[in-house]
Amino acid sequence: TAAPPTPVPDRTAPEWRALDAAHHLHPFTDHKALTEQGCRIITRAEGVWLWDSEGTRILDGMAGLWCVNVGYGRRELADAAARQMAELPYYTQFFRTATPPTIELARRLADLTPRGLSHAFFTNSGSEANETAIRMVRHYWALEGQPARTVIIGRDNGYHGSTVAAAAMSGMKAMHRQGGGPVPDFEHIRDPHRFRNGPDQSPEAFGRTAAGWLEEAIQAIGPGRVAAFIGEPIQGVGGLIVPPPGYWAEIQRICANHGILLIADEVTCGFGRTGHWFGSQTFDIRPDIMTLAKGLSSGYMPIAAVMVGQRVARTLIELGGEFAHGFTSSGHPTACAVALENISILDREGLVERVREDVGPYLMERLEGLSGHPLVGEVRGRGLMAGVELVRDKAGPGVFRPVGRVGTHCRDLCFKANAIIRAVGDTMVMAPPLIITRAEIDTLVDTLSRALDQTKRDLPRLMP
Ligand code: PMP
Repeated sequence: TAAPPTPVPDRTAPEWRALDAAHHLHPFTDHKALTEQGCRIITRAEGVWLWDSEGTRILDGMAGLWCVNVGYGRRELADAAARQMAELPYYTQFFRTATPPTIELARRLADLTPRGLSHAFFTNSGSEANETAIRMVRHYWALEGQPARTVIIGRDNGYHGSTVAAAAMSGMKAMHRQGGGPVPDFEHIRDPHRFRNGPDQSPEAFGRTAAGWLEEAIQAIGPGRVAAFIGEPIQGVGGLIVPPPGYWAEIQRICANHGILLIADEVTCGFGRTGHWFGSQTFDIRPDIMTLAKGLSSGYMPIAAVMVGQRVARTLIELGGEFAHGFTSSGHPTACAVALENISILDREGLVERVREDVGPYLMERLEGLSGHPLVGEVRGRGLMAGVELVRDKAGPGVFRPVGRVGTHCRDLCFKANAIIRAVGDTMVMAPPLIITRAEIDTLVDTLSRALDQTKRDLPRLMP
């Protein structure tokens, strides 16, 4: 019989904090500030609840990082991983080989995603999926005899990852300033955030205006140079920007008109988050390429995918020869086995419908109840993806300067009250596990409500 696995040592919270400060560089973190404040050590989780090393129970209003769609503590997923690890933990998909869970997941995703998306290319992260899409669309245009089509257009405040090209494709200015000079052939248009970019227009008129920015960019760059447009159906990390009515239909028309490929980044919107399996279905987008991660395995395993439609797949397969791209863990059988079971859970438990018909509308209804608060400028969202934008002046988009100080303060108050709600700038963002109950939504929104009241009282100190 096998020896039991060596456990992770049982250390006290101060010991973990000291070791963390000494040895661990965290993603997207100011380490000087982290060392001063010390980090929270999360030790276990169940459903929508986390426990820290002090035994405090915390409501996870963010599903980890928008990913734990089926909630924590799913025995089925642990069993799926254990079964596959015992059978075949790993093998490569290079060199004319494949593994059954990988093939089965590709088939399942081709069934589940919008019509025409027929093939899956697997990666480990959303960044790598988008990085793959970048190389793939440029390779596609080269094969099609139009190698000048290299430019990819994204949007301000779009987020597609933090590898070199995915960061350049993202519209996050702070990221563009770090890690080297500008990467050529990425352009950005303004985001469809009506509250900030077109508050005087009707939603429909603003939808046309915002989509028109794509047409203007294409004309300025030259249609023969544009390979693709990429967008998240709802911009998550960039501030929970919900597109106005008509926006996506017009974007779709403009892309089709110029033969430009449309890439939907579904990394946050996918797997039920917006009340349909994919945000593309919520907004009736028919993408040529779709990138998936996060909810694909509910975060239980690092796995992501690029779904490729017939148009690109045919060219790649028939004219492409070898596409010199891929990762050691592309199509990792254990990660694929877990993703398959995760999809089965979403399906079996009707979680997507639950978001669309029950808990999604309930969260929005409860948040709408905060719209009269003096700090709340706008409540927006779809499904279990919601944002509450805080403003200095309710009459218009009277944003706070510096941006983010008030939002961060409110977020810290929520954390102190043991609910995780993120601040993006001054927008409070929520994306809880899809299994959240109405009572848990009440706890989340009540915590936010009290944090807003306290933030209002603290305003003179925050913004002297
Ligand atoms: N695209 C979107 C829309 C995302 O929100 C993220 C991550 N937050 C990514 C891509 C990058 O995914 P990863 O962190 O897995 O590389």
